Amino acid sequence: MHEVLRLRLQRRLPRCPYPRPMPHLSSLWMRLRYNLRPFPLRKMNTMSDTKIVTRFAPSPTGTLHIGSARTALFNWLFARRHGGQFLLRIEDTDKERSTEASTQAIYRGLTWLGLDFDGVPVSQAANAARHAEVAKEMLAGGHAYKCFATQEEIAAFREAAQAEKRSTLFRSPWRDVAEADHPDAPYVVRLKALREGQTIIMDQVQGDVVIRNEQLDDMVLLRSDGSPVYMLAVVVDDHDMGVTHVIRGDDHLNNAARQIQIYRAMDWELPTYAHIPLIHGPDGKKMSKRHGATGVEEYQALGYSAAGMRNYLARLGWSHGDDEFFTDSQAQSWFDLEHIGKSPARFDFKKLANISGQHIARTDDAALLHELERYLAAISADPLSETQKSLFLDGAYCIKEHAKNMTELSDKASFMFQSRPLELEEKAVQALDTVSIGILNELTPQLQNAKWTRVVLEGLVERLALSHDRKMGKLAAPLRAALSGRVTSPSVFDMMLVLGRDETIARLNDIS
Ligand code: GLU
Repeated sequence: MHEVLRLRLQRRLPRCPYPRPMPHLSSLWMRLRYNLRPFPLRKMNTMSDTKIVTRFAPSPTGTLHIGSARTALFNWLFARRHGGQFLLRIEDTDKERSTEASTQAIYRGLTWLGLDFDGVPVSQAANAARHAEVAKEMLAGGHAYKCFATQEEIAAFREAAQAEKRSTLFRSPWRDVAEADHPDAPYVVRLKALREGQTIIMDQVQGDVVIRNEQLDDMVLLRSDGSPVYMLAVVVDDHDMGVTHVIRGDDHLNNAARQIQIYRAMDWELPTYAHIPLIHGPDGKKMSKRHGATGVEEYQALGYSAAGMRNYLARLGWSHGDDEFFTDSQAQSWFDLEHIGKSPARFDFKKLANISGQHIARTDDAALLHELERYLAAISADPLSETQKSLFLDGAYCIKEHAKNMTELSDKASFMFQSRPLELEEKAVQALDTVSIGILNELTPQLQNAKWTRVVLEGLVERLALSHDRKMGKLAAPLRAALSGRVTSPSVFDMMLVLGRDETIARLNDIS
């Protein structure tokens, strides 16, 4: 039987087998430098001939946090930059806290942000049997042991350690007990962690992080009910999915030291690590609700453009010279791990708004309409009618330069979206005094036969203003009020051109 098929039948390969990467430079280097177990000699690979595989591994326990979205973005950019794969793994091992609603929110958030993943998403919980199998392999290889210590014994150990001012890391008495002396009692499987020397995480962002092995305990791999712990699951899944680069929040840095021990025990190639600093609020404290929106979907509902969000989040903690505004293709050709900052980036709402606005201005009209429709759906607003859509396509040119987000864009487009008779805002009512209405009444018949071009319309309005000894602006205010129901709007001539003759005249008649 074909080897891959055989392994898959034995469930030794994940359901969705990704190509295994060749070892890459950093892990080989790490083995050499830190005197890890010998590895089979294979061809040395550099980044250029290694298939890059990154992953985003969210726990579905709430909304998709803006920090997680940035982690996903960095992984996506890095994979796309190197023509590699960007995989999604839902870390749903914590059955109490994982919810389907949260998984769906993750999909929606990634979809809105345009972070397309390769292959099918992997469910970590579905791989539990494989995780347990690896723990058993570690047992068989002497890298793990059965620990029969009860909760009470562990608590007593800690108490005594505390009283004697020793380290409270649990040192199991079962670490070296032979199988023949094991009782017939429930047990957990623990990692036989290295106690001497040090583990060095060669992190692409944090540099070399040294952890003394004596600081690490023999962590539990399998609980007494045989279920795997998260720390084991992550390593097994990353290995099986062929992940070459683990790019994640630096709150996982300590986990890396322990996870490396599992790689070592299994004689697996280490991935390259890049632990990125958290996002802070403008005041330098960990980003939280106090600062404003923290969930990706909240940002969508606030109307930021997805391209702007990608650009801003990429720039948040990573830099490419002084470039603030860039396109997706620029980001994909520039992104690297070297230029990720070591200290937490501060979220700057003004900058986000500015970048979002620049992207809106540069988005082509059809794509902008699509994004606006998605935004309206996200905030449960009425969908646009065909007429509104076609008016938007005609008029996008005169509003998109000045909108920082979709909320502003739809507000500026309101002259296209409203139906007659318009609801006039208070100030618009004031602008439409009797004298002004009288003047506008003179304009209406002139519009009937005018050529509908900007030059002609400007000429008509200018002459009318002159004949009443008014400045053009003075006439523009009531005209604007009649056409938009507002005192601020795009230029009156743009509105007339977009609305067309019949609608313009009808709106003027409505206020006469
Ligand atoms: N599931 C973890 C989290 O949501 C990520 C684990 C990892 O990236 O290794 O924080």
